[in-house]
Amino acid sequence: MSDPGHHPISADIVIHGGILLSMVEGQPPLDHAAVYVQGDKIVDIRPNMPAPRPSQGSCTIDATGAIIMPGLVNAHGHTAMTIFRGLADDLPLKQWLFEKIFPAEAKHLSPDTVYWGALLGCAEMIASGTTTVSDGYFFQDATALAVHKAGLRALVAQGVIDFPAPGVPDPRDNLKVGKAFIEKWLPFSELLTPGLFCHSVSTCSEKTLQSAMDISSRYSLPLQIHLSETDQEVTEVLSRTGQRPAVYLDRIGLLDGPLIAVHAVHLDDGEIQLLAEKGCPVVHVPESNMKLASGRAKVSRMMKSGLRVGLGTDGCASNNNLDLFQEMGSAAKLCKVFTLNPVEMDAGTVLRMATLGGAEVLGMEREIGTIEIGKRADIIVIDLERPHLAPLYNPYSNLVYSASGADVRDVIVNGKILMRNRIFQGLDVEEVMGRVREIARIIKKG
Ligand SMILES: [Zn+2]
Repeated sequence: MSDPGHHPISADIVIHGGILLSMVEGQPPLDHAAVYVQGDKIVDIRPNMPAPRPSQGSCTIDATGAIIMPGLVNAHGHTAMTIFRGLADDLPLKQWLFEKIFPAEAKHLSPDTVYWGALLGCAEMIASGTTTVSDGYFFQDATALAVHKAGLRALVAQGVIDFPAPGVPDPRDNLKVGKAFIEKWLPFSELLTPGLFCHSVSTCSEKTLQSAMDISSRYSLPLQIHLSETDQEVTEVLSRTGQRPAVYLDRIGLLDGPLIAVHAVHLDDGEIQLLAEKGCPVVHVPESNMKLASGRAKVSRMMKSGLRVGLGTDGCASNNNLDLFQEMGSAAKLCKVFTLNPVEMDAGTVLRMATLGGAEVLGMEREIGTIEIGKRADIIVIDLERPHLAPLYNPYSNLVYSASGADVRDVIVNGKILMRNRIFQGLDVEEVMGRVREIARIIKKG
């Protein structure tokens, strides 16, 4: 933070008058703060500033009565699955996946449906304060184009599975397709990181998992995997390999590389310790785990073991929205009800998980996750002039227990305003919704 007395600096965007939650460890909320953005970076932060006079060419955002904070990081999702929102609910996971979702994906996924579904997901995330998303799916060229169009920061990972998959009819090609995807998108944009996403230990062979890690390590890119989402998965892996899933992954070398474990619901204490020792981060996905009755991850134990933990929504077919504010409330309450301890998973801890925690999981903590001078300008403004957000004793509490994504007013990613006063600046959201409704009409016919 700079000296409040020194001369004003030139800035493209000035956000002023709000309560700043920098999410920097140990930094309390700062009243009447002003955040200066130049180009793609935060260049200054000043406390107790009077409203600056708008200088030529700069944009001034009055955040009086609002919260200024880092954009949220959705550390796991399948963005294009918005097209399946509400298609199949209230089913056992195996039936939901193998009888509903996989057949619907096989029939209806194409570069066109993935593009419009992903763009709708991006619009939904921007409108609810997410500025970075980690995505894993198929036809990922289309997802990459959609996140680029929307202006989000993203890790876009090509799905890898040892079954015929959308866009990869012969599973023997899955890593060839994945490697080509990485090589195509790596030089494309600073906002877009390509990668691989292995579906699970149950659906990928040892050779597939090791080859995916070889490629990921070669390019220093994270490799995502669904790990121990259900009890059945643990039983299946145990009977096939003689080891629990995390122990098996360690034996075949995957924990020595840049792996991100998603779900991590059915880990025993030894596996939690193992992931902590190996430095393998975890993405907590509470609403999907609740809705599919998969169980719940022992998040507070993981954090106490030193694991890095981020928060994700998963796809829209198992959530059924991409609102990380709701996800934060669920994460806090789910932990409390299972530990029978209201002190566990306090609001500040959950908010950290959805910002800096997610950035750490994705290896982006030096660029995003906090509001600090020199970091990328991924910033959101949350309107507090709402009945359900008054009064304000503790901003962390109001954000986690009272707010929803609909309270997000302004969204900036990499110094670019994507939403101002809840109006999209670069997306024709009516068109996007119309296109997805057309796709849904076809899906509905079966
Ligand atoms: Zn998932």
